Amino acid sequence: MQITVLAGGVGGARFVRGLVHALAADPALGPDPSITVIGNTGDDITLVGLRVCPDLDTLLYTLGDGVDEDQGWGRAQESTRVSGELATLGVGPEWFTLGDLDLGTHLARSRWLAQGMTLSQVTARLADRWGLPARGVRLLPATDTPIETHVVVDDEDGGERAIHFQEWWVKHRAALPVRRFTVAGLAGATAAPHVLDAVRGADLVLLPPSNPVVSIGIILGVPGVREALRGTRAPVVGVSPLLGGRPVRGHADACLAPLGVEVSAAGVAGLYADFLDGWLVDDADAAARYPTGVQVRALDLLMRDQPGAARLARAALDLGRELRGTPAPVRRA
Ligand code: GDP
Ligand code: CA
Repeated sequence: MQITVLAGGVGGARFVRGLVHALAADPALGPDPSITVIGNTGDDITLVGLRVCPDLDTLLYTLGDGVDEDQGWGRAQESTRVSGELATLGVGPEWFTLGDLDLGTHLARSRWLAQGMTLSQVTARLADRWGLPARGVRLLPATDTPIETHVVVDDEDGGERAIHFQEWWVKHRAALPVRRFTVAGLAGATAAPHVLDAVRGADLVLLPPSNPVVSIGIILGVPGVREALRGTRAPVVGVSPLLGGRPVRGHADACLAPLGVEVSAAGVAGLYADFLDGWLVDDADAAARYPTGVQVRALDLLMRDQPGAARLARAALDLGRELRGTPAPVRRA
């Protein structure tokens, strides 16, 4: 059983960790289920000369049991002595947290990239460090081509200016009105090795409750990915990141509105309508109208803890199995 997941940061990582646990508890899936995670790289940014990949790092730390659980990103038991010193020196953005242990990741990544390794190769090394292969998880960046999501906002003279997505999201807390999103480098990017094959050859493709515009939307924009999703024989099952019209965390609403997309589970499903087969929504959204041909199931969509994330992943696996024509196993409550 090959499962391919397109993921952003926190929502994606928590869901995939739940998926790992759900698969471990599900012998019905046969021996050696394997998970390929295709991670968003649009959030990537160069800070104090170092290449930072926030979504890939959140996936690594979460799946490797090294994440700060309360925050959802960054390392557990982290300190910020280095960034304190950088601030004293007047270097580096004070709005972006770079923890000391986290800086180790960015230093290693930047060194390996400077030595000529691709982001895929770097990510594979980091995934080894975090024990992902032993958990049956392969982590691929969506593309090895450097891309960066920018947000076009108003400037003071009535014109416009583009700022890095992280500056808009972290420094301005997504409060600056958005004219549009652009992704530098995306049109000329190529999918990273194995990405398109992982979609085409999957038995099941899952979209976790990641941001539909700046996480999953970026991966879908990598040339070839959307076509692969349309063409795959695997069912594509997604989980809504919006519950009752609101994101659980983050600012997905501020990303959808500028696109003219309804801020709802149905609005997000509409963005995926050309390839989506199954859609998990919250009980609060059960009565809405969804794109035709999409099988919708309503349940409690909140991942309150790790068992809650595993329960959500199991619901996605069950819907996938149903769509493949294999009934879900009977489980004791
Ligand atoms: P980011 O890169 O850290 O912003 O993370 P993602 O793009 O992976 O995920 C952000 C999305 O996850 C937000 O739109 C949240 O609404 C959604 N999310 C977070 N926690 C939950 C949860 O428990 N349940 C559901 N359904 N969505 C969630
Ligand atoms: Ca992100």
